Amino acid sequence: MAKRDYYEVLEVSRDSSDSELKKAFRVLARKNHPDKNPDDPDAENRFKEIQEAYAVLSNPQQRRSYDAYGHESPGGNPFGSGGFQGVNISMDDLFSGGFDSVFSQFFGGDATTGRRSSRGNDVLIRHSIDMETAMLGGDTELEVKLLIICEACEGRAAASPDGVKTCGTCSGQGQVTQNRKIGPFIQQMVTECPECSGTGRKITDPCSACRGEGREKKKQTIRFSIPAGISDGTRMRMGGRGEPIRGGGGSPGDLYIQVHIDDHDWYERDGSDLLMALPLGYPELLLGASVSLPHIDGKEISIDIPAGSIPGDTLEVKGRGFPRPRGRGRGNITVLLKLYVPTKLSKNVKKQIEALREEIGIDLDSVEDLVREEAKSRRRTR
Ligand SMILES: [Zn+2]
Ligand SMILES: [Zn+2]
Repeated sequence: MAKRDYYEVLEVSRDSSDSELKKAFRVLARKNHPDKNPDDPDAENRFKEIQEAYAVLSNPQQRRSYDAYGHESPGGNPFGSGGFQGVNISMDDLFSGGFDSVFSQFFGGDATTGRRSSRGNDVLIRHSIDMETAMLGGDTELEVKLLIICEACEGRAAASPDGVKTCGTCSGQGQVTQNRKIGPFIQQMVTECPECSGTGRKITDPCSACRGEGREKKKQTIRFSIPAGISDGTRMRMGGRGEPIRGGGGSPGDLYIQVHIDDHDWYERDGSDLLMALPLGYPELLLGASVSLPHIDGKEISIDIPAGSIPGDTLEVKGRGFPRPRGRGRGNITVLLKLYVPTKLSKNVKKQIEALREEIGIDLDSVEDLVREEAKSRRRTR
């Protein structure tokens, strides 16, 4: 079967913009995703065809080559001798846009295109917040020293716009190909251009502020908001706020803020729920009690301990945990009851406890019966 025109496959015009391409790909990929068409054996082929078309047209250099030569690209198949194999893209990726990085990796640094990535490094900042902030969310500010585009030269690396020339050694490709003869074979080696360190640019009048780097380290205020109910380890992305490329040109990488939640003095978090242990004396367990505690949502919680509670019992405080996803209310607080046993007793107290032993201690002669009862009740509750 003849290969269809990529623009035809994506149902777009030849002069469509990047965002039009992306939109078309998303719509078609969703419609033809194999997960959505389990009974249609052709869906997978259509899905692959759409992917291939998008992989080529979303890459500026590949698109130019395709526009000029069609499927008969002079460099051979852009995906190597095996041709396009398709990639695993989930429906989730299609909704979130997570597929972009998959395609941008296709030709990056590939010997067939000989152009290094024109995007700077991503930067990861770790940021710790307390559990209150994790629950309630809020706006945060961070002061960090980051590499940013040089203000003086606007990232050109050259003092004047005329000072940027295309590197003659690599013709702006950033990479050079060398042929090496190994026995009867000629091996092609693609290496970073030694003249321009891979930027593809030659700077004739380096900017004095950044010494021709096109970037400078500066204290930055990063403002972002923490969504209420955030999970530990969540990464928030700020597009284009990562490192600019050394030597100017291209576009900066992304900045990621990874959020860590500090331990709370007594709560442990389990998704939207909170867990805590509450030590109580024997009288409180036996007679019941009411306890108030400050809570991380700003209002106190009160816990009612019913008379006759046993260490190991759990109580639920409903609706005071973390916000549940998709606005489904809040989680609960599970309170585990523990017995608080004082380590020091005054003589007087000891005497009183001795007296109580007569009343509420166990009969040591009937331990066997008690053990049997306990085992029986445990079997019942299981
Ligand atoms: Zn500069
Ligand atoms: Zn060069």
